[in-house]
Amino acid sequence: MVGLIKAAKMGSGSSPCASCKLLRRRCVMDCIFAPYFPPDDPQRFALVHKLFGASNVSKLLQELPVNKRGDAVSSLVFEANTRIRDPVYGCVGAISLLQNQVSRLQMQLEQAQAELMSIQMQQHLQNEISDDKSLVLAATINLHQYLNDFAASTANLIIQDPLKTESLWT
Ligand SMILES: [Zn+2]
Repeated sequence: MVGLIKAAKMGSGSSPCASCKLLRRRCVMDCIFAPYFPPDDPQRFALVHKLFGASNVSKLLQELPVNKRGDAVSSLVFEANTRIRDPVYGCVGAISLLQNQVSRLQMQLEQAQAELMSIQMQQHLQNEISDDKSLVLAATINLHQYLNDFAASTANLIIQDPLKTESLWT
């Protein structure tokens, strides 16, 4: 029976927010906590309350424009969670861990970029060498052609006029 009444209250939206429930007070229409601490996640407010205190959180939210309050609550919840897990460093521990990861990854990225550049340079050099080889080959073929032509025309000259040809060589 009690459960049924409770369920009916939840359904009508009249159940107090997690904050008011924990603080055992009446959740008013314009409760500052209600939009950010729904009754289905009581742990969220319990953590923030334990670390910062409900009145401090309330003051903080009142000083902020409404559109910033959601983000503020998210960061308070994050800070409270990390402080529970790491009582010494809290979220600073998480931040410096991530900063270390970022700088390690940046170093790896720089190394990979340097390797890539050296591979590209080697490839470029190999292309140049093979370009040079084909130039030499083309020149050799041209030279062969030229010598053949020269031999052929010399032979023609000798056949046509042996005497004149002889004078060409002296
Ligand atoms: Zn409330």
